Amino acid sequence: MSNPTIAIVGRPNVGKSTLFNRIAGERISIVEDTPGVTRDRIYAKGEWLDHEFSIIDTGGIDIGDEPFMEQIKQQAQIAIDEADVILLVASGKEGVTDADEAVAKILYRSKKPVILMVNKVDNPEMRNDIYEFYSLGLGEPYPVSGSHGLGLGDVLDEAVKHFPIDNEDEEDESIKFSLIGRPNVGKSSLINAILGEDRVIVSDIEGTTRDAVDTSFVGENGQEFTMIDTAGMRKRGKVYENTEKYSVMRAMRAIDRSDVVLVVLNGEEGIREQDKRIAGYAHEAGRGVIIVVNKWDLVKKDTHTMKKFEQEIREEFAYLDYAPIVFVSAMTKQRLNKIPTMIEEVSMNQNLRIPSSVLNDIIMDAVAINPTPTDKGKRLKIFYATQVAVKPPTFVVFVNEEELMHFSYARFLENQIRKAFEFEGTPIKIIPRRRK
Ligand code: GDP
Ligand code: GDP
Repeated sequence: MSNPTIAIVGRPNVGKSTLFNRIAGERISIVEDTPGVTRDRIYAKGEWLDHEFSIIDTGGIDIGDEPFMEQIKQQAQIAIDEADVILLVASGKEGVTDADEAVAKILYRSKKPVILMVNKVDNPEMRNDIYEFYSLGLGEPYPVSGSHGLGLGDVLDEAVKHFPIDNEDEEDESIKFSLIGRPNVGKSSLINAILGEDRVIVSDIEGTTRDAVDTSFVGENGQEFTMIDTAGMRKRGKVYENTEKYSVMRAMRAIDRSDVVLVVLNGEEGIREQDKRIAGYAHEAGRGVIIVVNKWDLVKKDTHTMKKFEQEIREEFAYLDYAPIVFVSAMTKQRLNKIPTMIEEVSMNQNLRIPSSVLNDIIMDAVAINPTPTDKGKRLKIFYATQVAVKPPTFVVFVNEEELMHFSYARFLENQIRKAFEFEGTPIKIIPRRRK
């Protein structure tokens, strides 16, 4: 269910972000119409041999005004909380420093598997200089060069040996969902209210990270739900929890493990930049999305208030036009009972399959209403379309030339498909492909 997680730790300038980018490789994708998604990436997916994993660059989480030493200690703590394997990075150019020693001590005490990487070992002669790193007490130091991409294979070979054994392969019918949003929008309050008295809690499942706890419950009509709770959401108080990077990283981890994501906004405060960033990740990941406006009890309302807020959401989150919106209060419990039903509907929609014959009727009707575009005298021809995947529903459209399928025309086709079918809450993908 959850990918094993590697965290990178170390003092500034040793090359953490260089190594992060190397390890994440081309998996760091860029989606143009989602704002702010790829800048300063600190969380990504990676792959080594047959293993998929998540990787976090804790160096990118800056902890406000804390002194330097305090910052890197907090980052080490985040690594301990979040990761299955920790990569401690030091620099072969500078040798062992006090900061390296301080971090090594914290990691050693955690008993998590730690791999010591000595970076900036750009040529073989420098390999003789790494022996002093044994003094950190973390075993064999691995010489690497982030800028040249050297030595990473050995480190990853070692890392995968420490991944938890995956025994979660059995099909599980429960719908996984999570609540994401910036601090204080009311996620924890919503979780507690949704899990309120009338729900039967099936189990608390221990996650792969030490204190991540998922909770399963059965809804009114027998559907099972699993609420993804990443570590600390219900157990809090750490300094770094209010930093933006940390909450974004948390959100991305939760999104990865969910079928449906509830993007929580604070109705009292309105929409902030950070909300857009977090919602962008959910969209980019292809998950189902429901927008939940919380603290609705605190909003002074007249007959237009809800409509106006809705319009604002549609403008600010244009790419999430498929996401239903619900206005709730964790405090008064207003409309909370709608949420499980909405999640279930979105889940059904992401799993919908359209028969090819019906799909092609829709596409032909669409082309009749709005003729295909031309470019330099050449017209896009659509031969046929077929659905190739669910979660999210993905359609391949066979065409004469892929480049002729402009974004706006793909968007038009998407809208026609949405008019004909209930795809509320789920992104859908349209992929043009040249017919051979
Ligand atoms: P961070 O602060 O730990 O994330 O470090 P960065 O990844 O930003 O790197 C700090 C500096 O070290 C940059 O100027 C990098 O170009 C440089 N650097 C990173 N890896 C290597 C390496 O393997 N060899 C050398 N010579 N320089 C490196
Ligand atoms: P989180 O950081 O997103 O998990 O937010 P919390 O659940 O900790 O809530 C932050 C604060 O907002 C707490 O003081 C809550 O009591 C309060 N709060 C949460 N939901 C509501 C709500 O629907 N109405 C009101 N009035 N307060 C709320």
